[in-house]
Amino acid sequence: MNESTAINAACPRCQQPFHCGASDARCDCFDMKLDDAMRQQLAAHYSGCLCLACLRELKQQVLEAPSGKT
Ligand SMILES: [Zn+2]
Repeated sequence: MNESTAINAACPRCQQPFHCGASDARCDCFDMKLDDAMRQQLAAHYSGCLCLACLRELKQQVLEAPSGKT
């Protein structure tokens, strides 16, 4: 029971403290609608949840990235 997950964690990407509600009831990141590829990418690079600012940034990068075309 005392094995509390980091509720007030620091974002592993920008080091900003943020509150992830994933272990509570609802997290803002639920609204981000990340696709599986991005989730896997996040999981590969970071050990935890990122703050909303970083999620938005990363999502923007994915959207802007060329998808396979030269
Ligand atoms: Zn961040």
